[in-house]
Amino acid sequence: MQWLDEEQEITRQTVLRISREKLAPAARDLDRQMAFPRSELSVLSETGFLGCTAPRQYGGLESCAVARTVILEQIAQGCASTALVCLTHWVATRALSMSATETFRQKIMHQLAKGEALAAFAVHEAASGVIATAIETKAARNGEEYILDGSKIFTTSAGEADIYVVLARCERGSGFVLLGVDKDSPGLATGSIDERMGLRGVSSREVSFDQVHVPIENLLGQEGEGLPIVGKVVGEIALLGMAAIAVGISQDALDLSVEYAKGRTISGKPIGQTAAIKQKIAGMSVAVECMRSYLYETASSLDKGDLETGMLAAAKVKLLATDTVLRVTEDAIQVHGGHGYCCDLPLERLYRDGRGLSLHFKSSELLREEIGSKVLGI
Ligand SMILES: Cc1cc2nc3c(=O)[nH]c(=O)nc-3n(C[C@H](O)[C@H](O)[C@H](O)COP(=O)(O)OP(=O)(O)OC[C@H]3O[C@@H](n4cnc5c(N)ncnc54)[C@H](O)[C@@H]3O)c2cc1C
Repeated sequence: MQWLDEEQEITRQTVLRISREKLAPAARDLDRQMAFPRSELSVLSETGFLGCTAPRQYGGLESCAVARTVILEQIAQGCASTALVCLTHWVATRALSMSATETFRQKIMHQLAKGEALAAFAVHEAASGVIATAIETKAARNGEEYILDGSKIFTTSAGEADIYVVLARCERGSGFVLLGVDKDSPGLATGSIDERMGLRGVSSREVSFDQVHVPIENLLGQEGEGLPIVGKVVGEIALLGMAAIAVGISQDALDLSVEYAKGRTISGKPIGQTAAIKQKIAGMSVAVECMRSYLYETASSLDKGDLETGMLAAAKVKLLATDTVLRVTEDAIQVHGGHGYCCDLPLERLYRDGRGLSLHFKSSELLREEIGSKVLGI
C-alpha cells in the first residue's frame, strides 16, 4: 500500500494473516452468541497490537496514526466486533497514558500495554445522549478519594474490562473529571448484555456506580480537565479508528463480492460478466479506494503533528466512511442476490456491523454540526 513504509507493510501483512486465520473464522459465532472475543484478543495481545497507544517505556508500541489505522483496518476485515473492542482499549489506554498520575500508570500501564488487562471508556449516559456535557454521573471529593455515583449505558467491553475510564461531573465547583475505576471497586456493577443489531460481540452493557470510592491518584489530568481529555482522545484516535473499521468491513464486502461475481454462473456465464454487476463492483471498488486514500492522508497529517487540520479531517473521514460502508455492504448483498440476504453468508452481518459505526464516537449528526461550524467559521 502506497502510504506505508516497509515496516508498516510487513505489519499490514501480519495482521491480515492473523485476521483471516484467527479472527474471521470466529466472527459468525461471536455475532450469533453475542460472545466476547476473549481468545481473539489474546492473539492480538501476543503480537503486542493491543498496546498501540501505550508508551514504549511500559512495553507498549506507541504506534503512529498510520500504523494504528493499518492494524485496525485489517482486524476489521476479519471481525468488526474485535476491532471495536481493540479501538476502545486504545482510546481508554491513551487517556490513561497521557493524563494519569505516575503512581497510577506504574500500577496498570504495563498490563494494558501487553493486553493482560483490558480498558473500557464510559462516557455515554441515558440522559446525556450525544451531548457529553449533559451527563449526570457525579464525583464528590472526599479527602483523598472521589465518591462516584451514577450510571453509563452502551459501554463497550463492560463486564469484561479490568479498568473503566469514566467521565463524571464534579459535585462541587464546575467542570468534569475523568477517573480510572478498577472493575473490582465495591459499588461498581454491570447489567446484562444489550441485544443489538450488529457489533454484537462487544459486550455492550450498562455500568453503574453506587458510592464507588476512587482514590485521588486515579484522577486523569486535573479536576475540570475531563472533557478536554475525552475530546483529544476521540479526535486523535477514535474517529480515525471508526473510519478504519468501516474501510475494513467494506474491503471484506468487496472481496467477497468479486469472488462471488466470478464464481456464480447462470447458463454457463459468470454474473460478473453482466453490465449491472460490473457496475456495482466498480462503484464499490471506487468507494473503498476513495475512503482509504482519505483515511491514510488524514492519518499522515495527524502524524505530522498538524493536530487542528488532522482532527477536522478525522471528523470528515469518519462521517464519510461510516456512511459509505452502508452503500458498499448493501451493494454486496445485491451482488449475492438471495444468498446475500441469508445468514449463512457474512454479508448481512457486515451490513449490520457497519450500521453501528455512525452512532458512536460522535454521531454523524454531531459531526455534521461540528464540521459545518468549522467550515463556516461560526
Ligand atoms: C456500537 C456502539 C458502541 C458504543 N460504545 C460506547 C462506549 O464504549 N462508551 C460510551 O460511553 N458509549 C458508547 N456508545 C454510546 C454512543 O456513544 C451513543 O449511542 C451515542 O453517543 C448516541 O447517543 P444516544 O444513543 O443517546 O442518541 P441520542 O442522543 O438520543 O440521539 C438520537 C439522534 O439525535 C441526534 N442528536 C441528538 N442530539 C443532537 C444534537 N445536539 N445535534 C445533532 N444531532 C443530535 C443523534 O445524532 C441521533 O441521531 C456506543 C454506541 C454504539 C452504537
